[in-house]
Amino acid sequence: MPDNNKELTLSAPLSGPVLTLANVPDAVFASGAMGDGIAIDPLNDTLYSPCAGVVIHVARSSHAVTVRADNGAEILLHLGLDTVELNGEGFAMLVKESDRVSLGQPLLRYDLDKVGQHCKSLVSLLILTNSADFQVRPITLKAVKVGEPLLHVIARNTVAANTEGAGGPEASGQVRVAHRGGLHARPAALIRQTAQGFNSQSELHFNGKSAPCNSLIGLMGLAIGEQDEVQVSCQGPEANAALQALLSALATALPDDHHAQAPVSTAPLKRPVEAGVLHGVCAAPGLVAGPLFRLNAMTLPTDAGNHDPAQQQQIFEAALNAVRSEIAATLAQAKKHKNADEEAIFAAHMALLEDPALLDAAQQFIAQGTAATHAWSQSIDAQCDMLQGTGSALLAERANDLRDLKQRVLRALLGEAWQYEVPAGAIVAALELTPSDLLQLSAQGVAGLCMAEGGATSHVAILARGKGLPCLVALGAELLDQPQGQAVVLDADGGRLELAPNAERLAEVQQAQTERQRRRESQQAKAHLPAETRNGVHIEVVANVASSSEAADAFANGADGVGLLRTEFLFVDRQTAPDVEEQRAAYQAVLDAMGEHSVIIRTIDVGGDKQLDYLPLPAEANPVLGLRGIRLAQARPEILDQQLRALLQVKPLHRCRILLPMVTEVDELLHIRQRVDQLCLEMGITQRPEIGVMIEVPAAALQAEQLAEHADFLSIGTNDLSQYTLAMDRDHAGLAARVDALHPALLRLIAMTCEGAAVHKRWVGVCGALASDPLATPVLIGLGVSELSVSPVQIGEIKDRVRQLHQAECQRLSRDLLKLSSAAAVRHACHQYWPLP
Ligand code: PEP
Ligand code: MG
Repeated sequence: MPDNNKELTLSAPLSGPVLTLANVPDAVFASGAMGDGIAIDPLNDTLYSPCAGVVIHVARSSHAVTVRADNGAEILLHLGLDTVELNGEGFAMLVKESDRVSLGQPLLRYDLDKVGQHCKSLVSLLILTNSADFQVRPITLKAVKVGEPLLHVIARNTVAANTEGAGGPEASGQVRVAHRGGLHARPAALIRQTAQGFNSQSELHFNGKSAPCNSLIGLMGLAIGEQDEVQVSCQGPEANAALQALLSALATALPDDHHAQAPVSTAPLKRPVEAGVLHGVCAAPGLVAGPLFRLNAMTLPTDAGNHDPAQQQQIFEAALNAVRSEIAATLAQAKKHKNADEEAIFAAHMALLEDPALLDAAQQFIAQGTAATHAWSQSIDAQCDMLQGTGSALLAERANDLRDLKQRVLRALLGEAWQYEVPAGAIVAALELTPSDLLQLSAQGVAGLCMAEGGATSHVAILARGKGLPCLVALGAELLDQPQGQAVVLDADGGRLELAPNAERLAEVQQAQTERQRRRESQQAKAHLPAETRNGVHIEVVANVASSSEAADAFANGADGVGLLRTEFLFVDRQTAPDVEEQRAAYQAVLDAMGEHSVIIRTIDVGGDKQLDYLPLPAEANPVLGLRGIRLAQARPEILDQQLRALLQVKPLHRCRILLPMVTEVDELLHIRQRVDQLCLEMGITQRPEIGVMIEVPAAALQAEQLAEHADFLSIGTNDLSQYTLAMDRDHAGLAARVDALHPALLRLIAMTCEGAAVHKRWVGVCGALASDPLATPVLIGLGVSELSVSPVQIGEIKDRVRQLHQAECQRLSRDLLKLSSAAAVRHACHQYWPLP
């Protein structure tokens, strides 16, 4: 792309694999706090200028240099991580401040070996330090050579001006919008992201109005509903490709579009009249009692105007940057914990914070002498009014996300500490809470939430459900008149906030809460004892863990051992594979955390959609049906070999059992058993550890008898077994309720596995999520399972459940379940036969 005053293509300053900032092992760079950019793991020893420009800064310790490009973009080139600590050792800076440099000119040479040995990592950064003025778009995320195109840098005012047309080929088309609930925040964010991937200016047209695809607010403001027909127009060198991509993005509903279901009308509720009770809409279920705690919204004093625009603009940008890095940190956490809802919500917030409609309006107010605080406030309020004026309940609820950003930026501008002190156990009342409020309140241990406004489909409602916090919305303004500290009952299931519960009612709710608590305590008190059924059959209740600290938790909670150590934790989110010694130490730490108990360690189950940065594998059309689990180990035998060597060194070895994931035929097991035998011989080990097979594809269940002939035990992975038996993606939000391992077909496969194992007197465990479901405990025992591997917090609960059961009765009744018509029918029958407390 030719450079002009607004756009610039940066060339690779180093050769090597490219990483996104999120993958850089440094919290500050990864959070984007220093600015947007990209990273390279360098293979060469010279850093070259990625563009023509002027050197504006050279680090005293010669490990970093900043170049200002001719379009004003300031590019920090930072070699390695924590390299400042080398005090210049191993670096030779080839330029000085104020030097004019040309594209590809060598800037800095370094001793690859010396620096590599002494720094945390050689991963080097290219960061746009004035990201508020420029947007970056990576051109490639593959390995690059010096001088190859790496990143587009676009001035933000270019983005805002995109609607003015830039010439070039034009393309247009029309399409029916398939997104549930229309073009609300997340689909709009997807459209924006799609449009950004092309060198084209794209617009949507609907109902006589138009909006540029780079403005989330503009797109939402069109109030496009589900099945509405819209026009798309694109102009620029990639107009055709952009059009096709946009048409397809508009016509394909987001798979997990459950957020948009059942919109709650913003029209006044027809409230039942009941003295002392406010009626609202349930956004997250539950029944709790506690003191009401009123949260007040932030108010601004009146602004006299006449401020210095340059100074206000600077303050404003600093505040925006601060909020961007806060949100980036929340996003990184959500990603780490695989919290898809939280990730999607805060990704949309990040996009809103870059929205030209919002920023331009605020900047215009600032230019007229308004204070940054009031400029931002007015800009948000105008957009909220616009969204509320669309007549769409769903879009009106998105105004809450804007108000969230309003508060966050105001707090950053006013320097007010972003903290509420709310007592644990309180029921929080507010006009409307925002997603950021909710994260903070949940961390403070509040018991429930209620809002005068808001809707059950708002982002805050999704988060409340995810955190198990009872939540009522749309309770009306009266909520805000209630006195601080008043005892209330929040009956979210019934849609009621009881403002004056009598002593009897309070006692009843508190008793239910106490009863739950008491039951938990009594279960915990007996959690360290073995679990036997009423007729004396011992069931091992062990834990699923992914690290030694989780193992220590499991031990403290009474686990009889570890039933599944997922070893992927050692291999992911890093730049190089762990060596044998690192692995040995990690496995040993898990054994050490478990006292005298056994630990079942599963060999690595990556591949498919779980990629390792240092192990490039071809992209898969169907990742879950591709190279994963034991199949990957066969394609890359050195990985499994290293892991087996590490496992064979733990002490005492008899406490370690090896488990193989995704086995589909007996030969896979025989092959690995043979390899383990060879390694034992080589390492002078006389007693091979036990080897088990995971039953997580139907082929393995159908061949359980043949597998059990050569395996020491079988462990059923019901998560994958459900996915592969029912042909339903285990992570598909729309199918979540149907991916139920209590489906009669799954129960038949479990029964078949136990029968096959019994022929060779092998034991069978369950390590999938079904083992943690107390409703399933009698069924699994009835079908012949003798080990349940559950989440550490549930050890006491599942042991307690085992102690209530009689094996013969479980056997008799569970046989009947195999003939039922659906998972729902099985669940219903389980509730009848073995009611939960
Ligand atoms: C399973 O599939 O049930 C299982 C325990 O393995 P994972 O969830 O790690 O795929
Ligand atoms: Mg699995």
